[in-house]
Amino acid sequence: MVGTSVGRYVLGGQLGVGGMGVVYATELDGRALAIKILHPERVVDPHAIALLHEEACALERVDHPNVVAVVDHGSHGGIPYLVMERARGMSLGVLLRYEGRLALGRAVAIVIEILAGLQAAHSSDVVHGDIKSENILIETDGSDTIKIIDFGLALHVNQAPHVEQDREGGQIAYGTPEYMAPEVIRGEHASPASDLYAVGVILYELVTGHRPFEGGAPASILARHLEDHVVPPSLRRPDRDIPHALEQMILRALRKQAAAHQPSAAAFAADLAAAFPARDNDAVPTDVTEPRSAETTTGVWVSPSSQLAGARPGIEERVSRYRRELALAIKRGEPDEAVTAALAVARALIDDHAVTSARLALESTVDELTRGEGAEAPDAPEPLWRLLLTLATLYQNLHEPLRAHRMALAGYHLAVRWCSDLGRERASSLLARLDRRAAG
Ligand code: ADP
Ligand code: MG
Repeated sequence: MVGTSVGRYVLGGQLGVGGMGVVYATELDGRALAIKILHPERVVDPHAIALLHEEACALERVDHPNVVAVVDHGSHGGIPYLVMERARGMSLGVLLRYEGRLALGRAVAIVIEILAGLQAAHSSDVVHGDIKSENILIETDGSDTIKIIDFGLALHVNQAPHVEQDREGGQIAYGTPEYMAPEVIRGEHASPASDLYAVGVILYELVTGHRPFEGGAPASILARHLEDHVVPPSLRRPDRDIPHALEQMILRALRKQAAAHQPSAAAFAADLAAAFPARDNDAVPTDVTEPRSAETTTGVWVSPSSQLAGARPGIEERVSRYRRELALAIKRGEPDEAVTAALAVARALIDDHAVTSARLALESTVDELTRGEGAEAPDAPEPLWRLLLTLATLYQNLHEPLRAHRMALAGYHLAVRWCSDLGRERASSLLARLDRRAAG
């Protein structure tokens, strides 16, 4: 394709491929541009092309530094194309795969920029419809400037993000299940509110390294958006000091009812900015790491209705594998391995919303590692402090503040006894957090 002319534009190197089109570098009058050419098979309905042009015109009116600027659009041989400023950097999705998760202050600053761009679009009646970390470009030259790409375009092509019933009563999802708002899954059109839900997913992802619902078949992810509670970020990442206010904002954006979300992108951004006036630099935790799950794709999945029950393959298998590792480590008298395995068991169970089982697994490991003497046992092994702090966070989330405090204190004493600076630091910040919550 390099060297091919499309209207006034000569195609340069390929910048990326998405679900809707291929993007090439190009230039005009010395200006670096990017041209997106839709996949021909995505444009079945000629009516869609007219709508697409309308969308591009609307987008041309959105003039905001956090929205990629559209400079031209047209069609070539019946295939629509869109010309935009060329952004540098990588997608937020790729950055996350490199870094696992971001420092909280950085995550908040990025999301505030995303919201600023969305507010500008929403004020011009442009809805994105496919907000996700892959559609946010970030300049990693230190400025962290973000540009929202892939704007609105998907909305009027015949395969815009939405869910349909097929003839057998199964579901066909067009879009990216991990980021789809419940009302869109139920069949409503994408709206400013559904964009904000997707921002909630991104913020959750930046903070925890995971999307609220991920893994398993697309149909089960969709079902979980509709039915399942969101595991609070602090429970997903007990090792991070996630401020309560931030957690509340994330959970609000992820409420099942659109009316319960922040009323607008601007309001959401203002809440974040008020709670986090400046960037902080929280230390990146080193003790609990887990590879990020696979990339999402905007795509099409068909699932027969029989699969809709939402089987979540993998969790049970994972749990029983970690349980076996745990039993083995205890038998061999390896507390470090035992704690790691117990935390893995708990994490998998929490991901599966089996919080009570997670709690039982951690409590029985404490007993086994202290020969029944419990968290305050004088000869508890050093690695146990990690488990005690996780258990404390779990209690807090189960609304048992006294237990939470007692457990965090036991973790603190254990870390002091073993001269673990890291443990002492983590335990004191957890204790401070628990106190703040008790006070507020
Ligand atoms: P799709 O609608 O097919 O998902 P996107 O608009 O997301 O297409 O673009 C696909 C990829 O092309 C992006 O992930 C990004 O890497 C690259 N890309 C898109 N727009 C630009 C741009 N304006 N500047 C630089 N790269 C871009
Ligand atoms: Mg895309």
